[in-house]
Amino acid sequence: MNECTTNHAISDDFTYVMDLTRPEGTPIASFPIEPDFGPALESARFAVVRDELGDADTNGSEAVIRPLWDQNKGAPLIEAVEVHGGAEQSTVRVAAALFDAIARKRAAGLVAKGRLVAGEEYVYAVAAYAKPRAERPGKGVPFVAVEVPQPLSIKERGLAEVVTAAAAVSYGDGAEDIAVVLAPGVVQEAAARCLEAGALETGGILVGELCRDPDTRRLFLDVRAQIEAPHTEAREASLTFTHETWAAVRGAIALRGGSELMVGWWHYHPFGVFCRNCPAASRPGCVYGTKSLFSEDDVVVHRTCFERAYHAALLLSDLGDGLSASLYGWRRGVVCERELTLTPPVSAQLHTTRIHNNGGSDA
Ligand SMILES: [Zn+2]
Repeated sequence: MNECTTNHAISDDFTYVMDLTRPEGTPIASFPIEPDFGPALESARFAVVRDELGDADTNGSEAVIRPLWDQNKGAPLIEAVEVHGGAEQSTVRVAAALFDAIARKRAAGLVAKGRLVAGEEYVYAVAAYAKPRAERPGKGVPFVAVEVPQPLSIKERGLAEVVTAAAAVSYGDGAEDIAVVLAPGVVQEAAARCLEAGALETGGILVGELCRDPDTRRLFLDVRAQIEAPHTEAREASLTFTHETWAAVRGAIALRGGSELMVGWWHYHPFGVFCRNCPAASRPGCVYGTKSLFSEDDVVVHRTCFERAYHAALLLSDLGDGLSASLYGWRRGVVCERELTLTPPVSAQLHTTRIHNNGGSDA
């Protein structure tokens, strides 16, 4: 089981520099960056399993990063990065959102230092430079610890049948996303824990199985249970899983027969409670209470403990008018919000933050 320790060998022969400029071209700042391509590599390798393209054993082979040069301005400027997972078919173009997030963070830092005005527009460009040969990791010699993933256990199960009994389903926003189906107990128990938690964040681990529909051959995630994480350190705006949490999860999976996987996590943002205690003067412009928000801290937790391409995160938020549910997952190396459809009777108790009334597409 993944316990926040997994890493992959990535052979990256390039270093990256980001330039921030004003829209008319005045330079603002230039700095080296170290983009985290690990989740994109996960996506690339998962695609082989998802689409039945080859032998999952290729997971152990070396991954390579390829810059795609800017078509207009040429090298060293890049317009994207491809992560090649080792097997021939496992290539993912990294989402631009990965670089957007780095730029946003740096811009916020420049605002704090007074070098940029809050709200001021900027554009960014990324350049890739080949490392001197001596700095390149030797072929086949990883520079990070390698865990060769266990072959995934995949059950044969009809998606339609699982959806019929579900509380919530997310079909995903494209062929790359696998559907995520949440059993009623998962959503109802998590919601009940939130109501008990009051002003504290609370959370738990999602367990279930990866399944393949025998007719469509599509892979999906059947989330069958939630295991409350009694040993999390819940504070007002953050959640930390501890060693005891993982031990409890292992024990619970064993009790449930041992065949299930840890497939993600859920947690609660009690913004409605915060907002009631927040002075009226500071409310304008506050994003809390207006929308569900997977915070930067949440992304760190997801990256550290839930890095598998199929790992999902259910977020329940109290936005002051009851609980709302939203779902997040990896796509091309970044965490994205996914559509989520609640089925009755859960939809009578919860909102979703991205409502699809048509029951989703089968994309
Ligand atoms: Zn959070």
